Amino acid sequence: MDLKDKIRSIEDYPQKGVIFRDITTLLKDAEGLKDAVDAITASLADVSFDLVLSPESRGFIFGMPVAYNMGKGFVPVRKAGKLPAETISKEYELEYGTATIEIHKDAIKPGQKVVIVDDLMATGGTAKAIMEMVEEMGAEVVASAFLIELDFLNGRKALPDCRVEAVIHYE
Ligand code: 5GP
Repeated sequence: MDLKDKIRSIEDYPQKGVIFRDITTLLKDAEGLKDAVDAITASLADVSFDLVLSPESRGFIFGMPVAYNMGKGFVPVRKAGKLPAETISKEYELEYGTATIEIHKDAIKPGQKVVIVDDLMATGGTAKAIMEMVEEMGAEVVASAFLIELDFLNGRKALPDCRVEAVIHYE
C-alpha cells in the first residue's frame, strides 16, 4: 500500500471548502509510521546541520524521530505561553487565521545550521515564521522537510532561499 493511501482526507475541515489531510490513519499503521519517518530522514541524508526544529504539535511527531535517527538535537517551536524560559516570539498568518509561536532564546546558538521538519506545508507561513526567528537568532535554516506538501498553495515561494523536501504531494 502506498504511503499516500494511508492518509485520510476529510472534506470541509476545519472549514468549508478545505480538504484536511489527516495523518492519524498513517500514524496508527506501524509500517506507514516507519516508512514516513524513514522517508523524511532519507530526504535530508546529504544535508549537514546541527538541530531539527519543529512546530507543535504534529511537527513533533516527525521532527523528533528524524532528529533521533540523524543523531541531532531537537528544538520545539511552541504556541505562545507554553515554554517556561525566556523566548522569542513571532505572530504569523495561518492557512486559517493567525498564530503566535515561540522558541527558547537559548535553544539555538549563532552560526548553527538548522532544519525545519513538519507534517505538512500548506502556505509555507509556519516555516517562514520559524525561519525568520532562526535568522533573528543569528543561525541559518539550511533545509526544510515535510511529509506532505500541498503543491497548489505554492508554499515554496515563502521559502525562496531554502531547500524544501516533501515526501507526498497533493496537486
Ligand atoms: P502553513 O503554515 O504552511 O500554511 O500550514 C502548515 C501548518 O498547518 C502545519 O503545521 C500543519 O500541521 C498544519 N496544516 C494545515 N493544513 C493541514 C492539513 O490539511 N493536514 C494536516 N495534517 N496539517 C495541516
